Amino acid sequence: MHELSIARSLLGLVKENTPEHAKVRSVLVRVGPLQAIEPGAMQLAWHAVTDDSPLDGVELSLTLVPWELHCSACDRRWTSENWSDPCQCGSCRVDPIGGHELTLLSLDIEEIEPEESKGSQPVMRKPA
Ligand SMILES: [Zn+2]
Repeated sequence: MHELSIARSLLGLVKENTPEHAKVRSVLVRVGPLQAIEPGAMQLAWHAVTDDSPLDGVELSLTLVPWELHCSACDRRWTSENWSDPCQCGSCRVDPIGGHELTLLSLDIEEIEPEESKGSQPVMRKPA
């Protein structure tokens, strides 16, 4: 499954960007059209790769970006859901620009207190 390898890449990105002593709650990712992601399959793949990992239960939000198109006849640029749209000028010499993005936009992180400062330590007293 194509989405599974993308989910693994994302998992790597999230791990790299998560500070120590922090727990990730949700992840926002921007995905270009050339990644050809099917959102439902992506959620399943994300669940599969995070299961039994420290990121189990982390919510994945996808922002799917439209095609950015360029007309080589009139040099117009625009965005569209459909890469095969002809240009307003009537030319079909239209090429997609980019589209390979897989960008981690934001991480919703919960800071976790380091072990040493958590609660009150039992105080050991020497017997008098
Ligand atoms: Zn044009």
